Amino acid sequence: MKATKKCPHCGHWTEWSQQPTDLCQHCGQVLEPYRVASEQARQRLSEQPVSSFMLIEIKPEDGPVMRFFKYIIRGGQLAFAALMAFMVWLVTALAG
Ligand SMILES: [Zn+2]
Repeated sequence: MKATKKCPHCGHWTEWSQQPTDLCQHCGQVLEPYRVASEQARQRLSEQPVSSFMLIEIKPEDGPVMRFFKYIIRGGQLAFAALMAFMVWLVTALAG
């Protein structure tokens, strides 16, 4: 289904399919630049917890003390990932 939207750049009405990446038919600019930006921020946030999990690795040859400390650091990383997940949810909820 096609809808029309007033372009924020040139002020003309243009067809769009309600995608954040849709371009104006008249001036070729992004119709919702703020949504593209939040989309990119969301993507960055969702990638971060994965990379933070890669930071520490508990190896089988680690001693009990080393394991203990690594588990604590991992717990911190989990909390960080949970926080990031919450932020992603918040951004999604705010963006509607
Ligand atoms: Zn335009």
